[in-house]
Amino acid sequence: MNQTAQTVWNNCLSFIKDNIQPQAYKTWFAPIKAVKFTDNSLSIQVPSKFFYEWLEEHYVKILKVALTKQLGENAKLVYIIKMENTYGNKEPFTEKIPSTNRGSLKSQNVEVPLKNKNPELKNPFIIPGIRNVKIESQLNPNYSFENFLEGDSNRLARNAGIAVANKPGGTSFNPLLIFGGVGLGKTHLAHAIGVDIKDKYPEKTVLYISAEKFTQQYIDAVKKNNRNDFIHFYQIIDVLIIDDVQFLSGKSGTQDVFFHIFNHLHQNGKQVILTSDKAPVDMQDIEQRLLSRFKWGLSAELQTPDFETRVSILKNKLYRDGVEIPEDIIEYVAKNIKSNVRELEGAIISLIAQSSFNKKEVTISLAKDVVEKFVKNTKREVSIDYIQKIVSDYFQMDVDTLQSKTRKRHIVQARQLAMFFAKKLTKASLASIGSQIGKRDHATVLHACKTVNNLSSTDKQFKKYVEDLSKKLSI
Ligand code: ADP
Ligand code: MG
Repeated sequence: MNQTAQTVWNNCLSFIKDNIQPQAYKTWFAPIKAVKFTDNSLSIQVPSKFFYEWLEEHYVKILKVALTKQLGENAKLVYIIKMENTYGNKEPFTEKIPSTNRGSLKSQNVEVPLKNKNPELKNPFIIPGIRNVKIESQLNPNYSFENFLEGDSNRLARNAGIAVANKPGGTSFNPLLIFGGVGLGKTHLAHAIGVDIKDKYPEKTVLYISAEKFTQQYIDAVKKNNRNDFIHFYQIIDVLIIDDVQFLSGKSGTQDVFFHIFNHLHQNGKQVILTSDKAPVDMQDIEQRLLSRFKWGLSAELQTPDFETRVSILKNKLYRDGVEIPEDIIEYVAKNIKSNVRELEGAIISLIAQSSFNKKEVTISLAKDVVEKFVKNTKREVSIDYIQKIVSDYFQMDVDTLQSKTRKRHIVQARQLAMFFAKKLTKASLASIGSQIGKRDHATVLHACKTVNNLSSTDKQFKKYVEDLSKKLSI
C-alpha cells in the first residue's frame, strides 16, 4: 500500500476519531482503506455503494474538514467501491467515484474514469427503509432481562438468551430461535438480548428488525437494483435479531436472500437471534434449507406463564409504575387472565386507570368488571375436543369414528375438516392437533388443511360443509 496515502488517511482518522461517536467510527471509518494519494487527491476504498452513500450523507463535512486541514483547500477525495459479489461467479468489481459533496471538495471538477460505468452512481442511490435504520441497534432499552421475569414457562429461553448475550456468536445457541404464542414475551426477550450485548460489547453492531420490515427493505432494494448493497449491509452486522420470522412464509425471494445472509453471518461467527410464533416443524411455506438452518442452534419455547409467574409479572409492573394495589386483587387478575402477558398487563393498567379516573378504590368488584370486559373482548378460544364434537355431530358419527384409522371417504373428510378447523381456530401446533385428532403426525394435518382448502374451492357440497361448520363453531 502507498505509504503516503496511509499517512494522510491516518491523520484524517485521528481527527475524525476525536469528533464522532466511537461506535460510528468503528462502523464507518475503521473498514476504510486508503489506497492512493496523488496530486492532492486521496483515494479511499469503501466496502459498498451503500457505505459510500452513507459517508457522503452523514460524514462529508468532517471528511472535508479533516482533509483540508492537512492538504489545504484543493484537497480532493475519491471513493473506490470494492464490492464483494456474493452472487454468481463474477469477479468482485471496483468502481471509482469522486466525492460528490455538493461541490465542496471540488471533486465535481475531477474527471475520474468509471469502470463498469453505471449511470446510477452519479446520483447518490438510496435504499428506502435502510436509510432509516440506525445501524446502532433499533433496540428498545425498556426491554431488559431485569424486567423479564423468570418462571418455568420461560426459563430455558431466558437463560439461553443470557448465555448468548454473554458470548454472542460464541455459544452453540446460534441461531437462537425463540418461539411461542402471541403476547408471551418473544419481542421483549429478543430486545433484552440485544440491549445486554450492546451494554457488554458496545463495539458490536447489533440490529433488531422485524421480518416484515426486512422483507419490505428487500423488495425495495430489488426494485432499485441494490440487492448486493442490501446483502452487504446485513453482512456487516455482528448480532442480527429478526422478529417474527413466520412472516417470511411463502416469500421465497426474501427467504433466499436471508438464507445467504444467514450463512455468511453464521460462518463468520456472528450471532443470529430469531423469533417466531411457531416451532420450526410447524412453520408452513418456509424452505426446507432455511428450516434446517433454524434448527442448527437452539429452539426455545416461551410457554404460557404459570400463576406464580403471572403474579410476579404483575407485581413487577406495579412496582415499576410506583402503584400499590392489594394482594388479593393482583391474584384475582392473575387467576383470570392466563394465556397472554400483554393482556395481563393491559388488564392491570386499565384497572389502575379506572380507579384513578373515577377516584375509586381498587376493589375486587372493580377488578371483576375490568377483567370481565377484558376476557370478553379477547375472543374465547375453542378447544380441539369441542371442534371434534361439533364436526362428528354434524356428520352424525361419534368422535371415536372420526378419529379411527378407517379410509372411508366421508370419515376421512370429517377428520380433515376437524383438523382444518383446529388449525384455524386454535393456537395449537400441527403436531399437537395431529396427536389430538386420532394420533396423526403434523404432515397429515398439513395435508388435511391443504385438501380442505382445495376442495372448498372446487366442490360445492364440500364448500357447504365448511360454511355450515364455520357457523356452528363461531363464537
Ligand atoms: P410477543 O412478542 O411474544 O407477542 P411481547 O414481547 O410483545 O410478546 O410481550 C408482551 C408484553 O408482555 C410486553 O409488554 C412484555 O414486556 C410483557 N412480558 C412478556 N413476558 C414477560 C415476562 N416474563 N416478564 C415481564 N414482562 C413480560
Ligand atoms: Mg412480538
